[in-house]
Amino acid sequence: MSLGSVENSSPARPDAESPQSGRLVVLTGPSGVGKGTLVRHLRDRHSELQLSISATTRAPRDGEVDGRDYHFLDRDDFESKIAAGDLLEWAEFAGNYYGTPKQALDEQLDRGASVILEIELEGARQVRGRFDRAMSVFVLPPSFEELEHRLRSRARDTDEAIAKRLARAREEVDAASEFDCAIVNDDLETALAHLEHNLSLFGAI
Ligand code: ADP
Ligand code: 5GP
Repeated sequence: MSLGSVENSSPARPDAESPQSGRLVVLTGPSGVGKGTLVRHLRDRHSELQLSISATTRAPRDGEVDGRDYHFLDRDDFESKIAAGDLLEWAEFAGNYYGTPKQALDEQLDRGASVILEIELEGARQVRGRFDRAMSVFVLPPSFEELEHRLRSRARDTDEAIAKRLARAREEVDAASEFDCAIVNDDLETALAHLEHNLSLFGAI
């Protein structure tokens, strides 16, 4: 099934009331669609863009570093952060908690930095409810077949984890129209150009 026809584009506008504050960009899309790849290229080209470092109870993958890729926590510590109100949003995804530390994000935005949150659908919905100045972007795969191929070729997850991620992907893709814009990550350079165009209109780069 081709998903290319779902692409649309209507970027949010910069918040004229708080020109000093940085822009918040929420990037969502199924696991394996290429969010991390897009963000890596974007940050290579736009060093001013910051990435929020999430907390998670997922085990680190090979090569992942605590404090750089994620703050890796056990479930008790994560639940304490929820109880203390330390997270802007949080969700359970494929059996693990994920959430955005509030204080670090506030500090980045107060410094005037533009920040990207790379988060799943439930978290993106919470941010929309709590943060009216964010621009939300949904990244779509060209097809579910290609998504599965990317998940398998990345070779970072077990078959069971991949199956959970694919099942969740179908629900997430149905929500793409809730976002300010949707970008199909088929050809990487084309997707990057769309993303840069929208971020530039929003004032984030
Ligand atoms: P996510 O962060 O959304 O889970 P990744 O960035 O880890 O996804 O990408 C998943 C896999 O797909 C990686 O192996 C990556 O190299 C590959 N990939 C990303 N974008 C593209 C693209 N436009 N075309 C082909 N492969 C891609
Ligand atoms: P992964 O385990 O592949 O790193 O991430 C799994 C999913 O969790 C991805 O869709 C990713 O975007 C999402 N995710 C990462 N950090 C956060 C977060 O802080 N909050 C939420 N809600 N989702 C997150």
